[in-house]
Amino acid sequence: VKKLRIDKILSHMGYGTRSEIKKAVKNGYVTVNGQTIKDSGMQVDPDFDVVEIDGEVVKYREFIYLMLHKPPGVISATEDLREETVIDLLDEEYVIFQPFPVGRLDKDTEGLLLLTNDGQLAHNLLSPRKHVPKTYEAKVLGSIGDKEITAFQHGVTLDDGYVTKPAELMVTSEEQTDTGMISYIQVTIHEGKFHQVKRMFEAVGSKVLYLKRISMGSLMLDPELPMGSYRELTEEELNSLI
Ligand code: URA
Repeated sequence: VKKLRIDKILSHMGYGTRSEIKKAVKNGYVTVNGQTIKDSGMQVDPDFDVVEIDGEVVKYREFIYLMLHKPPGVISATEDLREETVIDLLDEEYVIFQPFPVGRLDKDTEGLLLLTNDGQLAHNLLSPRKHVPKTYEAKVLGSIGDKEITAFQHGVTLDDGYVTKPAELMVTSEEQTDTGMISYIQVTIHEGKFHQVKRMFEAVGSKVLYLKRISMGSLMLDPELPMGSYRELTEEELNSLI
């Protein structure tokens, strides 16, 4: 079993800084399995020992999993000197878990972004060998037809010579505008090269005007989740993801 210092657990769970926890312990506010403790460096098993602070049972957990509806204009990084990051959108009670984005969306792309501190899950979802499907909605320039759909099925050659793996392209609707035809599409890719969707459309002579991710593996963007907000994954969502 993995044992952890009690002050580390309590500060991680948002009960204060290490020195505040130390004071609380000294003043007799913290119990382990019903016994008041004296040492804030005491090691406990978070899965087994019952820790209470001021009579409140502390539910410890190691991992968090958040679904974020990323807005455009923020970057998929944990910190940046100039730009607003996806972590800046989170409340402190979640930031303390040190989550990071699982993969990246471009600054101007919106939609589903999973944030977690579970490195194993992130690794599994991002592993090229797992081919986790990612589905996007996009608005693109020009008319998209059988030629482009077939090209995406067979793989298109990107600007650096890379040939993409089979991708499923579907046209939802078209719109004739003053400046030409606009197509609304859905595309599913099974890999994640840099700017992949944008570069795939460039490869067939089109251009992405708007891009939104709506799913990653079994995880679908909650349509009720407003842009810029987030929520924890439900147990069901998490179980189907792992
Ligand atoms: N493909 C892109 O081009 N951009 C993204 O943000 C995601 C996929």
